[in-house]
Amino acid sequence: MKPAEGQPRKVIPITPVGAESSQTEVISLYEAQKKIYPRSISGVFARWRWAMVFLTQLVFYGLPWLEWGQRQMVLFDLGARRFYIFGLVLYPQDFIYLTGLLIISALSLFLFTAVAGRLWCGFSCPQTVYTEMFMWIEHKVEGDRSARMRLDNGPWTFEKIWKKSVKQAIWIAVAFWTGFTFVGYFVPIRELGGELLALQGGWQIFWVIFYGLATYGNAGFLREQVCKYMCPYARFQSAMFDRDTLVVSYDPERGEPRGPRNKTVDHKAAGLGDCIDCTLCVQVCPTGIDIRNGLQYECIGCGLCVDACNTVMDKMKYPRGLIRFSTQNGVKNHWTQSQMLKRVLRPRVLFYSAVLVVLCIGMLASLVVRTPLKVDIVRDRAALSRIVAGGKLENIYRLQIMNATEGAQRYTISAHGMEGLEVASETAIDIGPAESRWVVVRLQIPYGSASPGSHTVYFDIQAQGDKAQVAEKSVFLVPR
Ligand code: SF4
Ligand code: SF4
Repeated sequence: MKPAEGQPRKVIPITPVGAESSQTEVISLYEAQKKIYPRSISGVFARWRWAMVFLTQLVFYGLPWLEWGQRQMVLFDLGARRFYIFGLVLYPQDFIYLTGLLIISALSLFLFTAVAGRLWCGFSCPQTVYTEMFMWIEHKVEGDRSARMRLDNGPWTFEKIWKKSVKQAIWIAVAFWTGFTFVGYFVPIRELGGELLALQGGWQIFWVIFYGLATYGNAGFLREQVCKYMCPYARFQSAMFDRDTLVVSYDPERGEPRGPRNKTVDHKAAGLGDCIDCTLCVQVCPTGIDIRNGLQYECIGCGLCVDACNTVMDKMKYPRGLIRFSTQNGVKNHWTQSQMLKRVLRPRVLFYSAVLVVLCIGMLASLVVRTPLKVDIVRDRAALSRIVAGGKLENIYRLQIMNATEGAQRYTISAHGMEGLEVASETAIDIGPAESRWVVVRLQIPYGSASPGSHTVYFDIQAQGDKAQVAEKSVFLVPR
């Protein structure tokens, strides 16, 4: 059986045909990882990548520090079981919104992949973004591609030790701050900072170190291996591609036969294509592939090889676009950009778009009309039904009333569904902003007014001075 690509493979003893059986040759099918030293390049796509790094990291590092009234603007407070997103206060009972958000994210990924391949991977994926940041630090401390290669291959001199130490120190600081920020979405970030400084909060410290280490390992060392071997999206994306998906493509018809040439020579007359075989496109590739070999699953669609090749084409005074974002049909049929764009609106894209629009509208509408009040009812199992003073039959319930607004609320509790049914306990309950309270509610009916068995009753919880109202069903038990 063929082992999965990228997995360590067994060492297989092979006896060459015609050789003595005692002369066995051991061939390892495992290829050791070669470190990639991407060359930096400037160009349209390199600038877009940096713009996305700034944008995503501005949001990621900045958001937990913003306040909304008296609280953190975005906080997923798992301990208190409250999720604050701008003006929204969500409870675990609102899990449906998270489900909706995940479905919308997955569908968006399908849609963008069908239209423009791995744009997410190349420009917004945290793995790409942090790798880009860590490589930038490496570049600034250790120098450009050839300087880094020289440094790694050279002996451990003082220069090498201090450069490596400075790089590691900055990497660790960035990784730690990233872990701290991430945990700050789940624990109020200012409190978290205080706890860390005082070395309190064992779990918080653990998670900060855990996510810090994950960032350090993934962006500093594993890098393209995460995309190649660990990310499931890289594996199933080919199922979402078709011949009209925009991907980074090399035009072999135009580029081949490749080869070096003198700038002054008419290369076409010399039987050469436009590729001068400078390998710049390979040197800039963060996953270390040669796009001239065709579409490969390792390609994250970052477009850096497009920038690199366009630079070469400019120098050679050839038209740009030997490597370009194009579709397989576009390259094969020599389509113009507008011809390719016309193929964007194909059935699968229309289907994904329609479902996405319906889901977004549905989710938005449901958020707008959402009642900022939640109620859970639990029957008191210790005393199912009892006769109390005044000849009444009583059932006891525990109600959890959750105030999903930013202000204190007074709620009134009433009940209906049976003749003579009344609330015998407190009917007005005060609950603070974004808080919840368990209250014991006693329902009573006149003894003998209902037949034995279970009867459906409804609790009506109404916010005073507000339209928020919830009716919850339960049962009232009448013993024989
Ligand atoms: S082949 Fe080009 S687009 Fe693909 S990962 Fe390498 S540099 Fe990026
Ligand atoms: S950068 Fe362009 S010209 Fe240079 S090897 Fe790559 S495809 Fe050929």
